[in-house]
Amino acid sequence: MRLDRFLSEATELTRSQAKRALRQFEVSVDGEVTRDGARQVSDEQEVRWNEEPLERVGMRYLMMHKPVGVECSMRPTHYPSVLSLIDIPQLERLHPVGRLDVDTSGLLLISDDGKWTHRVTSPNHAFEKRYRATLSETLSAADAARVARQFAEGVMLNGDEKPTKPATFEAVGESEVVVGVTEGRYHQIRRMLTAVGYTVVTLHRESIGPLVLDPDLAPGECRHLRSEEIAAF
Ligand code: URA
Repeated sequence: MRLDRFLSEATELTRSQAKRALRQFEVSVDGEVTRDGARQVSDEQEVRWNEEPLERVGMRYLMMHKPVGVECSMRPTHYPSVLSLIDIPQLERLHPVGRLDVDTSGLLLISDDGKWTHRVTSPNHAFEKRYRATLSETLSAADAARVARQFAEGVMLNGDEKPTKPATFEAVGESEVVVGVTEGRYHQIRRMLTAVGYTVVTLHRESIGPLVLDPDLAPGECRHLRSEEIAAF
């Protein structure tokens, strides 16, 4: 990794403050003062800033049980950010992996690994996301079969140019359904259910691809992913 990037990842310095620290002879690599932010530093090398050895911060991968009433945006406008619920160092480096609406709860991944985020969210991989919704209407078996057919064929959503990709639909209660989609359009589940005549009361994401929300996490809690969970994507 480049030294200036390493500095800004291992400290609270911004990239430009890191460059300034380098210019001011504050940084050494293996005991040798350097001003070259572009030089590469390996895992074995010791980097010091103002004589203090710096710890390497590895990439972080978290699963959160997102509660309703928090925004996934990095610059929230009306509600607190999901990141305000997390208490770990260098929070500002983390980002939500995809989004849930403010009034949607459930599985939210959070990371500072941009490549991994891209793999999880890329349309090329098309990981299925499963949502449980409660509706204000009840569904008969015939209604459920009709909607399952419509979702499998694709639904034209207001304002979109193409129908949705094939999605799964299963009624799991009188007014409760589970929907699986492989896209991530704006308000997709609510709009799909509206398009076939239903109104969503609550919406909760249960899984993304191979990863299911840990039932031990209460709303607002999160935990680090295990290595096999990270590697599953
Ligand atoms: N679809 C929605 O309508 N909302 C979400 O938060 C996620 C998918």
